[in-house]
Amino acid sequence: MKVTVVGSGFGGLSAAALLAKDGFDVTVIEKNEQPGGRASVYADKDFYFDMGPSWYLMPDVYENFYAEFGKKPEDFFQLEKLDPSYRIFFGDKKLVDVASDIEKNYELFDSLEENGAEKLKEYLKSSEELYEFSLHEMLYKDYRSILDFLNGKLLLRGYKLNIWENLQHYVNKKFESDEARKILEYAIGFLGGSPANTPSFYHLMSHVDLTMGVFYPQGGMRKVVDSMYKLAQSYGVEFHFNESVELLEIHEHKLKRIITNKGAYDTDLAIINADYAHSELDLLTKDNRTYDEKYWDSRVMAPSAMVVYLGVDRQFEKLVHHNLFLDEDWEHGFDTIFDPKKAAWPENPSYYVNVPSRTDKSAAPSGSDTLFLLIPLAPGLEDTPQLRESFYDMIMDDLESKLGENIRDHIVVKRIFALNDFKERYNAYKGTALGLSHTLRQSALWRPAHQSKKVKNLFYSGHYTHPGIGVPMTLISSQIVAEEIKDQFSK
Ligand SMILES: Cc1cc2nc3c(=O)[nH]c(=O)nc-3n(C[C@H](O)[C@H](O)[C@H](O)COP(=O)(O)OP(=O)(O)OC[C@H]3O[C@@H](n4cnc5c(N)ncnc54)[C@H](O)[C@@H]3O)c2cc1C
Repeated sequence: MKVTVVGSGFGGLSAAALLAKDGFDVTVIEKNEQPGGRASVYADKDFYFDMGPSWYLMPDVYENFYAEFGKKPEDFFQLEKLDPSYRIFFGDKKLVDVASDIEKNYELFDSLEENGAEKLKEYLKSSEELYEFSLHEMLYKDYRSILDFLNGKLLLRGYKLNIWENLQHYVNKKFESDEARKILEYAIGFLGGSPANTPSFYHLMSHVDLTMGVFYPQGGMRKVVDSMYKLAQSYGVEFHFNESVELLEIHEHKLKRIITNKGAYDTDLAIINADYAHSELDLLTKDNRTYDEKYWDSRVMAPSAMVVYLGVDRQFEKLVHHNLFLDEDWEHGFDTIFDPKKAAWPENPSYYVNVPSRTDKSAAPSGSDTLFLLIPLAPGLEDTPQLRESFYDMIMDDLESKLGENIRDHIVVKRIFALNDFKERYNAYKGTALGLSHTLRQSALWRPAHQSKKVKNLFYSGHYTHPGIGVPMTLISSQIVAEEIKDQFSK
């Protein structure tokens, strides 16, 4: 049976490999020149940049994925646990390291507020319970109706999920210090939300980064992409790069052909990994869409971003592998990203600096650093070269002043990637970097469906679908889709 996968992001690669392993005849069509999607690679003058993901979290989910092929992550790359996990600069006043050793983090919380360690232990106990529950009862399940969602175990746990409370409220009632609150809330950025618009049950993310730890695959996230690309090829998947899908041709609610800028493909079924909104609005006629323009326009989109890739001819030792620069008034910053009425290029943004060369000699020439700056922005903002450059200067002024060092005189490679690039390179709706936020009404059952409601042989995998944003979630979404397809079409 012929399966065509549109897009070779993690969602496309993983779905292709899983179905090919089970005997489907799989072809992948990708508009860009390389696999990986948002996890593409940019290389210049021996500086190597993972263009998107840099945090390897939830190692158990990766293990589970490779186990489907009788493999382990170590068969493909060497994983290193980072220590410190990350460094946080609180305004220009204070700097703390979050350690890979949980005992050190208890000590840290004791130094931040009275009974901090005890409070953190209690918080992480609940966070771990929820993580384990979600992993075993929620993340790998497809939700097609409210009945699937309200299964017995979930109902029993319902009172503990506390779905009506937001994360900000939950954290604020448990912790007093600004620093402790921010350490527990920032992780929600991984899910493309703000503490005020994300349900409190996502405090499970603190188990992920504080207890399980932060990992780095030697050679970068591109090694993970590479492993899945090779895995898919080893099962016979055929890849077509630099080819854009332009139309999904439907006859009587069945997908028959896929039209690209280079030709046409007959297919028995398709998995769309390209941005869901783009696929529905640009590749399907109105009568074949599950969700219309109004639906997409009313969604809470996850942030876009301005990402700056810098190769510098010296090393900046004050920076560790992952560094967060959190603004004192970060609530105002969240408003400029999530409140459509206040959407703007922020004046005092919080931002993230990744330095893979701190851990990985292959990331930069000897004695140099590879810097990756990420500043979240509201999706849909105007994006011009002038706006980018003045924003870049503002961020560099801030970064240089916090490090007490000049960076700009040391730049050998510089590339800025922002809203318009997300639109052009990935067909991202409103230039979103991360897809669809995890608000309550956009979680689980309420995320866009894995199978089209109009076209029976059309499926979707990737960060727009359940379970959602992030590489591990995207792998799970493919595992769900592959199971669904095998169930419906193998017989
Ligand atoms: C800057 C950034 C930092 C991130 N950091 C992290 C992190 O640290 N850790 C983490 O786990 N996650 C992180 N994420 C999120 C993670 O990268 C994504 O959730 C995940 O990679 C999404 O994968 P996907 O396959 O769903 O989508 P994509 O990677 O976007 O793949 C979709 C593919 O479809 C292709 N396509 C689109 N339209 C067409 C068309 N018409 N025809 C053919 N092909 C098409 C695109 O080119 C793309 O290759 C980050 C994301 C970004 C952008």
